Amino acid sequence: MSDPEGLVFDIHRFSIHDGPGIRTTVFLKGCTMSCQWCHNPESQSSEAEMIFRETRCMHCGECLHACPQGAITWRNDFPITDLQICSHCGSCAEACPTQARELIGRSWRVSEVMTQIRRDIPFYEESGGGVTLSGGEPLLQPVFAAALLHTCKAEGIHTALDTSGFCSWETLNNLRADVDLFLYDIKLMDDGLHNQYTGVSNLQILENLQRLADSGHQIILRIPIIHEITDNENNLRAIAEFVKSMTNVQRVDLLPYHDTARLKYTRLGLDYSISPNIPRGSDEFAVKLADGVQIFERYQLETRIGG
Ligand code: SF4
Ligand code: SF4
Repeated sequence: MSDPEGLVFDIHRFSIHDGPGIRTTVFLKGCTMSCQWCHNPESQSSEAEMIFRETRCMHCGECLHACPQGAITWRNDFPITDLQICSHCGSCAEACPTQARELIGRSWRVSEVMTQIRRDIPFYEESGGGVTLSGGEPLLQPVFAAALLHTCKAEGIHTALDTSGFCSWETLNNLRADVDLFLYDIKLMDDGLHNQYTGVSNLQILENLQRLADSGHQIILRIPIIHEITDNENNLRAIAEFVKSMTNVQRVDLLPYHDTARLKYTRLGLDYSISPNIPRGSDEFAVKLADGVQIFERYQLETRIGG
């Protein structure tokens, strides 16, 4: 039986924010969108990446000895990796006593992921939970995603797919029968703004959502609330108008912006261009979220803050 490989950057057990009950969330690496507020920048590249935290390095040299490729050399008293030679095997990160080095993304076979998942089946049964595929964009690895979802379903495990919907209908169509619940991201209804802030058009995303709804799939909409980008009344009302007749949209989740990812950008050497003008936790922030909830509730859409 085929046992495809996928590039996974995390497997998070006991999640309570990625669908019903207690879940195991499998994060797949790679995304074609470039949302300016992305809180998982380590998920964007489709290649494995090495993070190096200088302040944690105690200059022990264990990573140099562990590297089978000879890719690490000393420079200014720090172990520097030649990325042209590095094969992303992860040996240096495993050898590092202080976690100064961390490999983001490694190949897993479906059977290996299932071994992790099966440990948690009693928790799923107890809580009504299951497995969620997230990312990045899990549908960028459609063969792996489809095989993992199918195996879960065959073993009676509830499945959720957290997706931007930015993919061909064929990709979704090939695996949608094995998805119990779609966690579907909608950001901006204006296509020009969508292009500006995410790097891609929303036309395919909206069309795919409509087709999933027409096909009777269970959907929770997820909307990131980003100050002066997604949080204005026009945008939220336009989303509500678009989905108001989709009877299988179970709920709308408004996801408050947070900038806890700022440090991740620094470690990855990426720019962090977005800056929140309203502090999270402030009264003004709470009012914005409450206004957002009201907009959707006016359309009889159950809405909550957070995922
Ligand atoms: S990931 Fe592997 S090849 Fe790359 S630097 Fe570390 S040990 Fe060497
Ligand atoms: S193993 Fe870790 S702590 Fe030791 S030199 Fe390498 S990066 Fe620094």
